[in-house]
Amino acid sequence: MALDKPLKDLGLKSERLLWPNKASKFEDEVNDLEQKVGLTTLAKAVAWAQTNSMWPDTFGLACCAIEMMSIVSSRYDIARFGMEPFRGSPRQADLLIVSGRVSHKMAAPLRQIYDQMLEPKWVIAMGACASSGGMFNNYAIVQSVDKIVPVDIYVPGCPPRPEQLIEGIVRLHEAVKAGVPPAYEIRSVAS
Ligand code: SF4
Repeated sequence: MALDKPLKDLGLKSERLLWPNKASKFEDEVNDLEQKVGLTTLAKAVAWAQTNSMWPDTFGLACCAIEMMSIVSSRYDIARFGMEPFRGSPRQADLLIVSGRVSHKMAAPLRQIYDQMLEPKWVIAMGACASSGGMFNNYAIVQSVDKIVPVDIYVPGCPPRPEQLIEGIVRLHEAVKAGVPPAYEIRSVAS
């Protein structure tokens, strides 16, 4: 839509207040205006593109992986998010879904795969085992994958249903669109 009218006729009636803690309608009005005239910022356009082409790495560890695989089926259809190609190489992927328990033996390969992914990249810990070790409180299992890689989203459940994983993916998309940086930027290093 062309901007053939003054902005105030399109709904922008307030001004930005450079006053901390003082409420302003300006941001809300600008958001409405963006919807009306199709304006946006470059950062928002890039975030929109990233969330509509977030390709997961092919990486399954245990029973949760069966639920993860089903999200590409016609019933769940993550193709609607532009996410249908699970990539065979981490260099072509920007989302790592850790689905299942992580043994200490798998910790180094998992970290290597994460390091080979290009930035920006995100991690979803799928299920109780990936998030916290789950029922496997023993010497063989890493008690949460966030000891190896920074995690953006935790999906609870044992196993989480595909709908729960999709909920986690949608929450991740919302965070990216809202400008929340990836976990590796927030935490700098894996804790
Ligand atoms: S959370 Fe449950 S389903 Fe998932 S890997 Fe652990 S035991 Fe298996």
